Amino acid sequence: MGFIQADKLTYTYEGNLVPAVKEVSLSFKKGSYTAIIGHNGSGKSTLAKLLCGIFTPTGGKVLIDGMDTADEDNMASIREKCGMVFQNPDNQIVSSVVEEDVAFAPENLGVEPAQIRKAVDDALAAVGMTEYALHSTYKLSGGQKQRIAIAGILAMNPQCIVFDEATAMLDPAGRREISDTMRKLNQRGITVITVTHHMNEAAMADRIVVMNKGEVAMDGTPREIFARVDELRKLSLAVPQVTELLYDLGLPAALHAKEAADVIEEEIKKKCL
Ligand code: ADP
Repeated sequence: MGFIQADKLTYTYEGNLVPAVKEVSLSFKKGSYTAIIGHNGSGKSTLAKLLCGIFTPTGGKVLIDGMDTADEDNMASIREKCGMVFQNPDNQIVSSVVEEDVAFAPENLGVEPAQIRKAVDDALAAVGMTEYALHSTYKLSGGQKQRIAIAGILAMNPQCIVFDEATAMLDPAGRREISDTMRKLNQRGITVITVTHHMNEAAMADRIVVMNKGEVAMDGTPREIFARVDELRKLSLAVPQVTELLYDLGLPAALHAKEAADVIEEEIKKKCL
């Protein structure tokens, strides 16, 4: 069984006739790194909130490390195990000083001060923000604010972090900071699930789940998913530019510029030498 296990997961918003997420069954292994993509309104954000227990399903169920998210008694443990980073960095900052902001959640849980000090220092180091510990939160860039939000979650020592369009409001430099942070956290063994509409970001994950009308339309590695250019286009989704270029040239799929250069070199060798 996966670390997060969704079984026929369904969610219908109050007053809506059509479910936003419909009978979705997915399993996420411990330490995996998954991107969820899909056009607007396909159910990505609702699914993300269900997967980390913020929403309770209206049908089916989600188990996080074996704990049913619908069971109130599991709420506190689930909050500690699985954190969520949202789109707007400003909404997630609760304190005017960086290290106080990061300490907020463990302080609220009544963790020992010495333990909090260590958790905050470790969390700031993990997101590369140690030197900003005593800075004002309001002077930070969007990317830095998101890294502080991530550090606040890390201070709780979670096993899983779900990012809901966490890079959507950031400039390209901020997006890269957060993508790099996601990869590093995953390398430390944290299970990462990220909702994104940036295909280059999705290509960095080990697995991509494509949502359409509340259901899973595709599920595979970035290489498998981005080879299905026509199907993605039908779902109004782009593929990474470099993948699209090679596809339009009738060449095998590549996810990165370096890989594309190798594919083109191979083709030239085959055809011209
Ligand atoms: P995505 O993240 O892919 O854009 P969402 O999960 O936000 O999709 O939305 C899925 C569906 O649920 C959409 O049809 C949307 O209109 C509906 N929806 C989302 N949030 C709400 C809400 N708070 N109340 C009612 N309907 C909602």
